Order: sequence, then C-alpha cells, then structure tokens
Amino acid sequence: MTGNNRHIPIIGILALQGDYEAHRKMLEDRLGALARLVRTVEELRGVDGLIIPGGESTTIGKLMERVGLDAAIRERAREGMPVYGTCAGLILLARNIEGINQQRLGLLDITVERNAFGRQMESFEADIPISSLSGAAVRGVFIRAPYVKEAGPGVEALGSYADRVVAVREGNVLGIAFHPELTDDSRMHEEFLKMVRAFAESQLAFPCVDPVDS
Ligand code: GLN
Repeated sequence: MTGNNRHIPIIGILALQGDYEAHRKMLEDRLGALARLVRTVEELRGVDGLIIPGGESTTIGKLMERVGLDAAIRERAREGMPVYGTCAGLILLARNIEGINQQRLGLLDITVERNAFGRQMESFEADIPISSLSGAAVRGVFIRAPYVKEAGPGVEALGSYADRVVAVREGNVLGIAFHPELTDDSRMHEEFLKMVRAFAESQLAFPCVDPVDS
C-alpha cells in the first residue's frame, strides 16, 4: 500500500446491508480513492476511515454486533479514525435514538429521531447549504430520513432543512441525514477524504510532507 514512500489511504465501507455500493462507486469511480468493503473485524484492520451507509439501521446494528464490528469500530473511532455515516449511518452513530433502544455506536453526542419527516415526506430532495463547503448548496436526497433533535456542545451543525439539523460533525465523526452518495456531487465525500488523509498522515512514523497538496 505504499508508493513513493507515501501511504495511500484506504476507505472502509461497512457492507453488512444498505447502499454501500453507491459509496464505493463515489469513492472509486468519481474520486479515484481506494475503497474496501468491510464485513468483518479483520477487514476493518488497516483501513484509515470508515463509511457507514444508508439502509436499515436496526438491521445494520444487529449484524454489526453479531460479528463484533460494533466494539471494533468504537475502538478505532476513539483512536481518531474518521467515520462518516449517511442516513441509517447517522442513526447508528448517535448516542440516543428517540423512543427506541436499538444497537448503535454512540460516537456522536446527539439524539436523533428516525423517519422524522412524516409519511407525506418519506422521500424528497432539497438544497442544503453546508457551512463547511464553499460554493453551491448540496442536493440532499432524503429517504425516510432522520434529523438531529438534540446535540451536545461539541457537535457542530453543518446544515439544516426546515429548521431541523441534518448534517453534523463532532471531531473525527461526520453524520449526514441524507444521501450524498446518490447524487453527482462528490464534495461531502471529498471532505471526508481530507479527514482520512490527515488521519493517515498523522499515523505515519515519518510523515512525508507533500508541498503540492498538503
Ligand atoms: N429510516 C431508516 C432507518 O431508520 C433509514 C433510511 C435510510 O438510510 N435511507 O434505518
């Protein structure tokens, strides 16, 4: 995995259930990044960041626990590995899930409400300005999306829809209620890649400083 003395970061994508293929395409086909589907604790070893996709959060949570990935992901995230969840991924990252005690990672100091936009709004699209991104708003594809009902002081709100927070970051953990992986806009994934590159560099014993892109 080294070339010219430089480590190319590997982005893991949790592939137990959900739209992990869309994330893989975004990373590999659009951004030329190195992605690895993660289904076991062994596959998690050696990745420099992890994406938790959209899907069914109760199912992903159960499967994660069954193979021991919940504890392993928590440990890596607490060591600083960047983690990025979309939709069900955001739910799984939350410390609290309103009204239900389902398996979760608890890596974001937030309370989320699932399926928060009501029956009429099960699926919709809206432009979401993201404070950390310059340029145009991101096109948000919402599918039975959650929102962030409460957030601790360390959590940065990055974007809202109808006065509801739908994008947050807390240190190395990024959570988005919608699905950037289902659009042509790769900027959220690029943001995450930057976090992963910085982490991977920080893990090197002798980080190589590249004056061109660092
Ligand atoms: N509503 C789903 C859940 O609670 C999330 C939907 C999605 O990921 N698109 O898991």
